[in-house]
Amino acid sequence: MAWDFSTDPEFQEQLDWVAAFCRDEVEPLELVFPYAVRLRARDPKMAALVDPLQDQIKARGLWALFLDEDLGGPGFGQVKLALLNEILGRYSSAPSLFGCQAPDTGNMEILAAYGTEEQKARWLVPLMNQEIWSAYSMTEPQGGSDPNLFVTTAVRDGEEWVINGEKWFTSAGRHADIIFVMCTNGIFIVPRDTPGVEIMDRPRTHDHIVYTDVRVPLDHLLGPEDGAKVLAQRRLGGGRIHHAMRAIAQCRRAFDMMCERALSRESHGKVIADHQMVQEAVADSYAEINMLRLLVLWTAWTIDNSSTAEARTQIAACKYTAAKVLKDVSYRAIHIFGSLGVTDLTPLQAMWAGAPTMSVMDGVDEVHKVTVARNVLKGYSPHEGYWPTDYLPAMRERAREKFADAFAADPALVEYADYMERRIGRGH
Ligand SMILES: Cc1cc2nc3c(=O)[nH]c(=O)nc-3n(C[C@H](O)[C@H](O)[C@H](O)COP(=O)(O)OP(=O)(O)OC[C@H]3O[C@@H](n4cnc5c(N)ncnc54)[C@H](O)[C@@H]3O)c2cc1C
Repeated sequence: MAWDFSTDPEFQEQLDWVAAFCRDEVEPLELVFPYAVRLRARDPKMAALVDPLQDQIKARGLWALFLDEDLGGPGFGQVKLALLNEILGRYSSAPSLFGCQAPDTGNMEILAAYGTEEQKARWLVPLMNQEIWSAYSMTEPQGGSDPNLFVTTAVRDGEEWVINGEKWFTSAGRHADIIFVMCTNGIFIVPRDTPGVEIMDRPRTHDHIVYTDVRVPLDHLLGPEDGAKVLAQRRLGGGRIHHAMRAIAQCRRAFDMMCERALSRESHGKVIADHQMVQEAVADSYAEINMLRLLVLWTAWTIDNSSTAEARTQIAACKYTAAKVLKDVSYRAIHIFGSLGVTDLTPLQAMWAGAPTMSVMDGVDEVHKVTVARNVLKGYSPHEGYWPTDYLPAMRERAREKFADAFAADPALVEYADYMERRIGRGH
């Protein structure tokens, strides 16, 4: 019997350590120096605070925990990673502190999987050590959901590739040392200071970048020529499930806050938690978070036992389900907090604002729903004639064949079957 929801005690110890470390070290750091940990050009004053913490994380074998052992990480696999991300996702700076921050994670994953030894030595090792930072340039201004609309191209000219195009919403592009640029004919690694890379003023966090006659050596192509879509799928598949894992942490935080508040206030003669509509909010949130969690863990288990590609339908389902559960749970929590909920004095507003972002980033929900529906429908075929397979009169007719011998031997049994069928017809 292989079904099991338990965590082995050794790994539970790691989880407990991470939970305590995040509560005692990470949370105070991000409350007192908001965003500072995530800033890529790190202030030496911050480095003095952050480096000793990262040394502790490395000593526990928890650095770059998304990478398999053969790719240079601890090789936890996705289920263990999910359990860790359920803790880290509560703290915005935790992924950076643990060396598993987006967009570097996805870039490291494709570098590790498709890079040559030389490319890994040049870029993967410094990325893992946070000595350099990266960005991922895929979306284009004319439309992000449909890769067939992308036009950025690299043309070979002697010993160089010449890239021309325009990209939109490249997260942290202006702070990156290298940018992974998805062209129609492959993914290219472009140092940000290469002549022809122009970063527009707006937006500030997710950059609009124009690439004009950007020249990179031939060995800056990552993976095979024309491999752009395969590499992008590999990269985004991992990213989506990791976001979903961290969303569970956000949902749980909103839920914890909702429950505490519901028990702490009174209205119309009883504590708010005793009002049935508040209880409905608690009960629905409890069930939805656990449904999301089981979906994510099942998907993580599927990846561990097959591959990201095999789990594509499940990953797509996690992507939009996480956004929906985060939206619904954070909304209910805000509502139960009343006026305080709509201020920025609790983390709830930021969680609620994060839901539409989750619905758009890494591919809009609609596209993932189409993927799920299409793949699921492949397992079905149309019925013949007017009636569905589960048309009861036809099912009964087929079922009677099983009793043909018994009916032949005993006409009373036929009469009894007819009688029972007539009773059903009369609504009994
Ligand atoms: C926080 C954040 C970070 C991001 N980081 C990066 C990054 O680092 N690098 C990068 O390259 N990109 C990044 N993106 C961009 C992201 O990949 C795109 O925003 C996304 O693919 C959607 O593209 P779009 O914004 O052009 O929306 P559009 O493609 O214009 O879609 C807009 C809307 O049209 C509708 N729609 C579109 N297609 C369909 C369809 N097939 N069926 C039904 N309805 C549809 C949906 O309602 C959708 O929300 C990021 C986005 C966000 C929000």
